[in-house]
Amino acid sequence: MPTFIRAHGAAIPAIGLGTWMLTGEACTDAVEAAIGIGYRHIDTAIGYGNEREVGEGIRRAGLDRDKLFLTTKIPPEQLASDDMLRAAEGSLERLGVDQVDLLLIHWPSRTLSASETIRSLNAVKARGLTRHIGVSNYTIALLDEAWSATDAPIVVNQCEHHPYLDQARLRAATAAHGTAFVAYCPLGQADVLDEPVIQDIAGRLGRSPAQTVLRWQFQKGCVSIPKSSHPARIRQNLDIFGFEISDEDMASIDSLSSAGTRICNFPSIAPDWDE
Ligand code: NDP
Repeated sequence: MPTFIRAHGAAIPAIGLGTWMLTGEACTDAVEAAIGIGYRHIDTAIGYGNEREVGEGIRRAGLDRDKLFLTTKIPPEQLASDDMLRAAEGSLERLGVDQVDLLLIHWPSRTLSASETIRSLNAVKARGLTRHIGVSNYTIALLDEAWSATDAPIVVNQCEHHPYLDQARLRAATAAHGTAFVAYCPLGQADVLDEPVIQDIAGRLGRSPAQTVLRWQFQKGCVSIPKSSHPARIRQNLDIFGFEISDEDMASIDSLSSAGTRICNFPSIAPDWDE
C-alpha cells in the first residue's frame, strides 16, 4: 500500500493517479485499473471534463469510499462564493460521491483576492462537500494571503514540479505552513525520462526512469500524481517505495533544473510566478 504524506490531519497517499487528458472509456479504465493495482489517490478537476468517467472507474473498482483519497478542483472562473458552491455540488453529482477528500482552487482568480476565495472555499467545506481544502498554482505571496484568511488548514499546494523545475523557494514556503506540496507534471510530461543522467541512475538502480523520477519526488517530500493510460506504467509508477536514491544521485537530478523549464504556463490564467 502507498505511503502517506501527512498535513494538518490529512493523510495523502504519496502517489496518486493524474487524469488530465484522460477521457471517455480510457479514463474509466485507467481509474479502475489504478485502484485495482493499489492506488488510493485519484486527482481530477472540473476543467478536465472527466469527473463522470473518474466516478465510474471508482464505482467499477468497488473499493470502499473511505479507502480512497479523491481530489477535484474548481476552475478560476467559478470562484465567486455562489458559483463555487454550485461548482462543487456539480462535481459531487458527476463523481457520484457525497464528499470529496480534497477540493482545490485550480488557479488563483484574476479578479477576486486570495482572501476572498479561500473564505468561499471554507464555506463549501463547512457545508460538508469536502473533507479538506487546498490550492493549486499558488505563489508564496498568494499562499501567505490565503493562510492569513482561512479557518480550516490549507492542506495542499499543488504545483508544477519535476527535475527541470525545482521550485525550491515555493516548496520551502509551502512546508513552512505545514502544507503538503503536490507535484503536478511530476514526470515533466515524460520529457525528462530521456535525460542521460536519469537513465544512468535508473540503470544502476535497476528501475525505470519514471520510477527514478517519482522516487526523487518522494525523497524531496513531494506527493506525485503521474498520469498514464497504460496499466503496466500505472503499476510501475506506484512501485517506488522499495529502493532509495543516494544523496549524490539526488544532487545530479537536482542539477537538471538549471534551465527552469515550465510546462504549464498559460499566460491568461498564470500568476506572477516565484521562479
Ligand atoms: P506527467 O508528468 O504525469 O506525465 C504524463 C506523461 O508521462 C504521459 O505522456 C504518460 O504517457 C507518460 N508516462 C507516465 N508514466 C510513464 C512511465 N512509467 N514510463 C514512460 N512514460 C510514462 O504529466 P501530467 O501533465 O499528466 O501531470 C500529471 C497530473 O497532474 C495530471 O494528469 C493532472 O491530474 C495534474 N495536473 C494538475 C495541474 C494543475 O494546474 N493543478 C496542471 C497539470 C497537471 P501514457 O499516458 O501514454 O503512459
